[in-house]
Amino acid sequence: MRKLVLGLCALALAACSSSEPAKSETIVCTTGMIGDAVQQLMGKNANVKVLMGPGVDPHLYKATQGDIAALTDASAIVYNGLHLEGKMTDIFEKLARNKITIAMGDIVAAKRLLNSTDFDGAEDPHIWFDVELWSEAVERLAENLANKFPEQVDSIGIRMLAYQLKLKAVHNFCLNQTASLDSNERIMITAHDAFKYFGRAYGLEVRGLQGISTTAEFGLADVSDLVNYIVENKVKAIFTESSVSSKSIEAVIEGCAQRGHEVKLGGELFSDAMGAKDSPEGTYIGMVMYNMTTIVKALGK
Ligand SMILES: [Zn+2]
Repeated sequence: MRKLVLGLCALALAACSSSEPAKSETIVCTTGMIGDAVQQLMGKNANVKVLMGPGVDPHLYKATQGDIAALTDASAIVYNGLHLEGKMTDIFEKLARNKITIAMGDIVAAKRLLNSTDFDGAEDPHIWFDVELWSEAVERLAENLANKFPEQVDSIGIRMLAYQLKLKAVHNFCLNQTASLDSNERIMITAHDAFKYFGRAYGLEVRGLQGISTTAEFGLADVSDLVNYIVENKVKAIFTESSVSSKSIEAVIEGCAQRGHEVKLGGELFSDAMGAKDSPEGTYIGMVMYNMTTIVKALGK
């Protein structure tokens, strides 16, 4: 009897596992934030491969031969879109002809997108900085993945709800953190314009030395404009980013010093790439919480 029960269990497990995507099925993602979201939704039912690791700037990233092979072999591809991975657009368009490709920026409601300050008619791709908007993107992503892996629909749905609960808590944490800042402390300056969604969601005025993309070089006039702005507004601290050279921000600090205004380095933020794999900042939630804590500590009293 016991043998039969065990046998039935084994059969049930076999039946179950045969309808799930084999572990060899791989979902290739561009950024760490997207890879984290896909992993949260798929659990152990897919191998998630992330092309752009810690410190990598997606605006400048060029696909390697290995990346192209991985993308070509993938069961599905998830990327940010809205020109974040500007040098890979042609590759995604080509692959989309016969493969499931999902762009996070294309699946959120268009009305929630901010315009790009770099190009007319384009949208700002840094949507992950508004946790509530990212949660909406995760929900759309779950629907898309459930279409691709219909036998996973229930588990994807359960995982999505669990992840969204955590994201809601992080969103509230961010709102509470910035609530402690006075109105004159709500100016946030970084190396490039990655934080517009963050500023809109959490009530900060944000400015970057470089534009939405890091592809354009910053000039002396940009540095001098920003120095003027910092001096006029008595900004206390400015921030570097882990995926952008710190030289630009150092030039601004130096420029302020020449004008007799000491602006301190508030810390290094994770903007377009997450932190090291085994660190708390190596997850989307850890990265957002680290950024928010660093920003409020530097700008607040
Ligand atoms: Zn960026």
